[in-house]
Amino acid sequence: MKIVHQKGNSEIVIAEAPIPTPGPGEVIVKTVVSALCGSELGTYRKEGLPSGNNGHEAAGIVSALGEGVTTVKVGDKVGVSAISGCGHCDYCAKGQYTWCDHFKFFGHMHAEYFKVDAIACHQLPQDVPWEVSVLITGDGLGVPFHTSTKLRSEEIKTIAVFGLGPIGLSEIIVQKHLGRKLIGVDRSADRIELAKKLGATETILVTEGLDVPAAIKALTGGKGADVCIEAAGVPVTAKQCFLAVRKGGTVVFNGEQPALPLSPSDDFIRRDITAVGSWFYHFNEYPAMLEAYRKGLPVASLVTHQFPIDQAAEAFRLMADGKTGKVLLRYA
Ligand SMILES: [Zn+2]
Ligand SMILES: [Zn+2]
Repeated sequence: MKIVHQKGNSEIVIAEAPIPTPGPGEVIVKTVVSALCGSELGTYRKEGLPSGNNGHEAAGIVSALGEGVTTVKVGDKVGVSAISGCGHCDYCAKGQYTWCDHFKFFGHMHAEYFKVDAIACHQLPQDVPWEVSVLITGDGLGVPFHTSTKLRSEEIKTIAVFGLGPIGLSEIIVQKHLGRKLIGVDRSADRIELAKKLGATETILVTEGLDVPAAIKALTGGKGADVCIEAAGVPVTAKQCFLAVRKGGTVVFNGEQPALPLSPSDDFIRRDITAVGSWFYHFNEYPAMLEAYRKGLPVASLVTHQFPIDQAAEAFRLMADGKTGKVLLRYA
């Protein structure tokens, strides 16, 4: 089978590999679509992998079952959670695999076939298009959806999203769908345009020397946004979120990043600030994501590019250039 090999130094080749064989509790999925994730850019640009790839968002048809699998059958249309759990602990019983002490990560999904735990497969209705299927079962929509479960207060009216890559743009559509007013912040004019198209009411194109928190205050009657979401994965941006959020507001961390200095007194206590971390999504959140799609969440609008697997190098190059929304690979 064909598999994308992320060799590092921004080099992608299409390699040949044997179709994987399923171990106990595992299944093999014949890929129809996989999605590129911003979190793969580190591996792509830097050290690479000895073989295969970090692809972890995909949907397709189950083609083989390992020993003891009873929850899915050959021929099922599935999307997958790349994070699976032990299957036995209290968190796993609730479908909260990311909290399992023994969670596992399955990658190598930019390939014609991939392996995953049966308990990490979501059944997909036949009428859901493939480009939607891969998003409503992966972290492309999953991260913003999981985040939204922590932002339920009706007092939240205005949300500033810092960083308009695939996750930031997905935050825009999810929060817009919930009736919030969105301010999109990014350095890329292309991504600012995408954010406007997806429903950001206001946008801030970051240029050298621009005081971003002051710009957000100017758009919010001098108070600051009710919520600032850090989706750029940069400490400077994280710090700006604390300066741009209103008193009593919430800062959300979506972007993984290095440590940064924060002051308990200045950044939290004296302004009554709440900070929220949000990682991946819970397996049990899929039915609600499917329902949100059914109720009009414009999931497919996140997809800006689709390529056959043979053009994976071009797909990664475009995403790394910072001009895309969600980029998909298709398999014949
Ligand atoms: Zn991801
Ligand atoms: Zn577990």
